[in-house]
Amino acid sequence: EYQPGRVARVDRGVCTVLTAVGPVRASLGGAVLTVAARDPSALPCAGDWVLLTHWPDHRVTVEAVLPRRGALIRRTAGKDASGQVLAANLDAAAVVEPVHPEPDVGRIERLLALAHESGARPLVVLTKADLAADPAALARQLAVVAPGVPVLPVSAERGLGLEPLRAEVTPGRTLGLLGPSGAGKSSLVNALVGAVMMPTQAIRRVDGKGRHTTTWRALVPIPGGGAVIDTPGVRAVGLLDGAAGLDRAFADIAGLAEGCRYADCGHDGEPACAVREALHAGELSTRRWESWRRLQSEVAHESRRRETRV
Ligand code: GDP
Ligand code: ZN
Repeated sequence: EYQPGRVARVDRGVCTVLTAVGPVRASLGGAVLTVAARDPSALPCAGDWVLLTHWPDHRVTVEAVLPRRGALIRRTAGKDASGQVLAANLDAAAVVEPVHPEPDVGRIERLLALAHESGARPLVVLTKADLAADPAALARQLAVVAPGVPVLPVSAERGLGLEPLRAEVTPGRTLGLLGPSGAGKSSLVNALVGAVMMPTQAIRRVDGKGRHTTTWRALVPIPGGGAVIDTPGVRAVGLLDGAAGLDRAFADIAGLAEGCRYADCGHDGEPACAVREALHAGELSTRRWESWRRLQSEVAHESRRRETRV
């Protein structure tokens, strides 16, 4: 008697759920609200598979959120420890960064750690490639901050470089987009769908809705394919959870550390430290090293804070 569906978007507690009979608006059922009161991350979000009940008075409620294969979660400083779930059940998670005026390397590194943590295949998408003199060279340059991760220059405007992304939205697959407002995520969704599904900034401005971000967070089905989830306006703030995603995002440094003489090397002047050697040799940039240190201490600080709460 339950009807399955997939959450496309959530607006002030009302879910738009895609079902076999089309999109349905559903409010949250009692069981979901009870669980969410203890753990807000249990609230349905875009990409969640849910079970619906249709009531005789035509109300529809979400009665259960099915277990997630993974999720993009942003920790919120000073708030509850569970954080905000941005998108669930992704197969690929793309960090979207514009090439113009210039890519923000620190933001790529931070969002990449989140992408790794989501359990999905991480990607870096360099948008507005038509505005770069040599987008391929830029992608090669940025490969060092995304070890093991494809860096794909694309232009939604010109329809260039979209093929590798189309492969991420074949039937049954879901691609999540993670990046700041203005990065070109809506334009990318529209290019993948082949129609204007998401209002871009230009349209939003005319609407007077401006950059009101949460309204547009949404899952969009690709005709004849899978789905893409836009998570608009994710700023580079927010704390990371645990070190696993970070270690993968900084696999180069983690790899170097394995070559240190001491397993517990702090890379702080110990003898035979492979990390220090790489820094001196210029094989590891000081900028990247400091970025890693900063994110590491953020994670350590956050886990201490959570331990003291218990
Ligand atoms: P979002 O906030 O991440 O959804 O970004 P939008 O898709 O709304 O795009 C922000 C701005 O960048 C808009 O003015 C777009 O027209 C522009 N833009 C998006 N994609 C491209 C592109 O491939 N090339 C160029 N030159 N501009 C783009
Ligand atoms: Zn070391």
